[in-house]
Amino acid sequence: MSLFESPFFQDSFSQLESAGGIMNMDPNVLERLKYPKRAMQVSVPVRLDDGTVKVFEGYRVQHSLTLGPGKGGVRYHPHVSLSETAALAMLMTFKNSLVGLPLGGAKGGIKVDPNDLSRAELQAMTRRYTTEISMIIGPEKDIPAPDIGTDGQTMAWMMDTFSQLSGYAVPGVVTGKPIAVGGSLGRAESTGKGLAYCVNFAYDHLGKKIDSNTTVAIHGFGKVGIPAAQDLYKQGAKILAVSDYTGGVYAKNGLNIPSVVEWIKQNRVLKGYPEADFISNDELLALDVDVLAPAAIDGVVTKDNMHTIKARMIAEGANGPLTKEAVDYLSDKGVFIIPDILCNSGGVIVSYFEWVQGIASFFWDLDTVNSKLHGVMKQAFDRVIHTQTKYKCNMKQAAFIASLDRLQGAMRLRGMWPG
Ligand code: NAD
Repeated sequence: MSLFESPFFQDSFSQLESAGGIMNMDPNVLERLKYPKRAMQVSVPVRLDDGTVKVFEGYRVQHSLTLGPGKGGVRYHPHVSLSETAALAMLMTFKNSLVGLPLGGAKGGIKVDPNDLSRAELQAMTRRYTTEISMIIGPEKDIPAPDIGTDGQTMAWMMDTFSQLSGYAVPGVVTGKPIAVGGSLGRAESTGKGLAYCVNFAYDHLGKKIDSNTTVAIHGFGKVGIPAAQDLYKQGAKILAVSDYTGGVYAKNGLNIPSVVEWIKQNRVLKGYPEADFISNDELLALDVDVLAPAAIDGVVTKDNMHTIKARMIAEGANGPLTKEAVDYLSDKGVFIIPDILCNSGGVIVSYFEWVQGIASFFWDLDTVNSKLHGVMKQAFDRVIHTQTKYKCNMKQAAFIASLDRLQGAMRLRGMWPG
């Protein structure tokens, strides 16, 4: 698949063009942003436990390094492709610019279902992938982090491999590390916590309060969905349904979230959870709730099912869960959409904190991490609202415009080389 072929890339590019048009962006800057700075494809041979060798396709794409080192997750998923990775790298550029981080945008991944591999095979694959991309990553070049199918353990293996190749410990090469090897308190739950902060900012903005009448559905119950559910549940909201790739669980008076989380810890998937009704992912998306948080994968609300959505607010936990057509349609209908590059930026913000703490070799307590996260996200939320009012556009367009405004300024100042 070529760089531009995937529907996700096309869709992300059309969001960019739409925002660029509204803000009257310099067409030369827009042209530059269509292409990633650098895209690397690697082959990752792994000796499986049965002695045979299997080669996996891996990628690392650096979309823009204008604002600083590349930053973005590593995804292990069967749908990973060059084009999808390029789209995600582009969204990272816009996210990092929107929330004011001194970081560019990058993303990586391996086309694999990690559930099919043993722990030893996963470790071997991760170490070989890290070796293959080692020449383009590093604390001052590009800093990977967890995404779908990867976690703190994956980051610890990446950090160790890079350190072995360098001959000394280089904790700053990745973020999302376990605390014992230089991670930050609060990083693991930061994306979901940030989502919950955004729902609160939106409620404040609309003059409403989250209470026991607030109903929520969460699509995707992983590193983003779980902490988002936990925080909103703690605030008193009723989490009516959550789902994963095996389907959803629903309780009309609200799920007992600690019990669902405990079930996931023991069983890994929601299927079989005894204290709720089982529903499909499509049924979950169509629930009549105050807040819908699609926090699994891209392209779940499209022109095919956007008419079924009844939620009053959508918090985009995943990257690109709504297509442009769905965002435009639902925004026109009055649904309050918190766009992905704002709503799920908590993860990269605390990754940035982890990188800063690592460089300073001075680690903050959890309250400091969370209060700084809250401050950065509130500022970004207010900028998006201000931009939306100024341009009379939808929230997605406003987030892109606020991001592109900063990026365009930096690109112009740095200029093009050679001119
Ligand atoms: P994860 O692997 O921890 O969890 C993903 C969840 O989605 C799992 O519950 C999985 O079963 C479910 N899922 C996968 N495919 C599905 C499908 N087709 N239908 C329904 N559910 C499905 O991944 P994550 O880290 O929580 O990431 C989720 C999304 O959030 C991704 O789009 C990712 O890019 C984005 N994101 C993650 C972070 C982070 O810090 N982890 C930061 C920003 C954005």
